[in-house]
Amino acid sequence: MIEQEKKPLDFIRSIIAEDVKNKKNDGRVVTRFPPEPNGFLHIGHAKSICLNFGVAQENNGVCHLRFDDTNPAKEETEYVESIKEDVQWLGFEWQDKEFYASDYFDRLYEYAVKLIEIGKAYVCSLNAEEVREYRGTLTEAGKKSPYRQRSVEENLDLFQRMRAGEFADGAHILRAKIDMASPIVVMRDPALFRIKKVSHHRTGDSWCIYPMYDFAHCLSDSIEGITHSLCTLEFANHRPLYDWILDALQTKSHPQQIEFSRLNLTYTVMSKRKLLQLVQEGHVDGWNDPRMLTVSGLRRRGYTPAAIRNFCELIGVSKKDSRIDMGVLENCVREDLNDPAPRVMGVLKPLKVVLTNYPDDLVEEMEGHNHPKNPDMGTRKLPFSKELYIEQDDFMEDPPKKFFRLGIGREVRLRYAYFIRCESVVKDETTGEIIEVHCTYDPATRGGSSPDGRKVKGTIHWVSAKHAVKAEVRLYDRLFNQEDPEADKEVDFKNFLNPDSLTVLSGSMLESCLASADPQVRYQFERQGYFCLDPVDSQADQLVFNRIVNLRDTWAKVRQGKR
Ligand code: ATP
Ligand code: MG
Repeated sequence: MIEQEKKPLDFIRSIIAEDVKNKKNDGRVVTRFPPEPNGFLHIGHAKSICLNFGVAQENNGVCHLRFDDTNPAKEETEYVESIKEDVQWLGFEWQDKEFYASDYFDRLYEYAVKLIEIGKAYVCSLNAEEVREYRGTLTEAGKKSPYRQRSVEENLDLFQRMRAGEFADGAHILRAKIDMASPIVVMRDPALFRIKKVSHHRTGDSWCIYPMYDFAHCLSDSIEGITHSLCTLEFANHRPLYDWILDALQTKSHPQQIEFSRLNLTYTVMSKRKLLQLVQEGHVDGWNDPRMLTVSGLRRRGYTPAAIRNFCELIGVSKKDSRIDMGVLENCVREDLNDPAPRVMGVLKPLKVVLTNYPDDLVEEMEGHNHPKNPDMGTRKLPFSKELYIEQDDFMEDPPKKFFRLGIGREVRLRYAYFIRCESVVKDETTGEIIEVHCTYDPATRGGSSPDGRKVKGTIHWVSAKHAVKAEVRLYDRLFNQEDPEADKEVDFKNFLNPDSLTVLSGSMLESCLASADPQVRYQFERQGYFCLDPVDSQADQLVFNRIVNLRDTWAKVRQGKR
């Protein structure tokens, strides 16, 4: 607690602290998280959620969940539901503050009428192409629309008839009358309302004109009495318009817009439009594919809400654009799982070991620690018998000197059990593949040490063949094989999809206790990483485990290898 207080405030929290101190807005803090329900939330949204809800919590304020549902063509109720689930799962509460921009359509219409009445908005009948042409460019001023001088009466009449459905899509738009020569292109008479004869997921067919984002957003903020409207940097250019609309309408509440930089991560794309393409074209198994950096994908993969919140806190809030290394996120997951995750043994790619000098029917029980650093987590019994599985990677027929695992004539320790020495191998006659490894065990080494002081360098994990549970294990790698799949605008980002992002191991052999694995628990499979049951595909008679993250930052290795 004390340490947290010492941490310097980010620039947004500093502004807000100052406002609270100066009793601006009577010292109230009201923020909002305003998703457009046109896709599932991703880790970038998590940053915005942690910021908006976090700032409100820290200042005894509230954060509204507002759906910015002004574009009926792309929005769906399914997305609204998933967004609510994700925000809750991340650990945030909006109480009764659930709002929809569509609930304000009547008021937004009234506001537009008021702008017309005071001569600050007009109905323009240029077509979309002409509007673009008249807008000018960054270096060239725009031209005034020939419809700019329409009388208030004519504008009111046309706008009312737009609403009544008399005109086709695109026939007219309502525009703010600001300044066609403004150096800020957004201020060159931006559109406020457009005709769109599309049903809306909440208002049905009540409307055939819909407000533009820039018009709806500032007014929704104002209607709700938001004090600080936090958004990403691409809206910095829109701030003059945000302020212009609220000033023109002299609204009672005029929130302060503050921009911060978006979260970008290496080896992924973040825009919902692109994520939707991956889903629709079948490159991934839905929005909640464990390789997706969506909140639902991370949840299914086994990430914890705390890990995601810690990550958002760690990366902080600033105005600087950056791309955060995926390893940073993965480290937060490891840190969050290290203490609570019970340790178990799971052999991902099994190789059979036969202990030739072990009694045929004997089953011993070895004792394994559920956590090496936390005795309070207790121990468990591990059945041990003549036939075992070890990891294929832990055996080499003719290993190099530095290989400290098993090879012919070499001795290793089986975790919590005995020393074993490899005597011979059995090969498949046709393929030459090693199908069994024959070893002897040393009965004097029970528990993992030798009374004669003999040392072994390697300790490997194992399971008893007749007690093991068979499972499918899914290993995930980065979804893209380029740090920034969008770097080259000429090249489709999907060209950089990593073909090896998913590895399915259908015959993994796991410690018997995992037959009744708890779907809520994240386990550490010793030496292999953190795993949890896949909440979608795992069945009682066919377990499916996801690897959440491996034990070390293998990304660092990848980067080094590249140099
Ligand atoms: P996308 O570009 O991924 O479709 P968006 O900005 O269109 O995202 P919205 O639903 O409009 O998505 O976003 C809701 C809120 O989340 C906005 O305030 C937006 O600024 C914020 N947000 C979106 N992406 C990020 C990101 N990568 N980092 C931080 N905040 C983000
Ligand atoms: Mg958006």
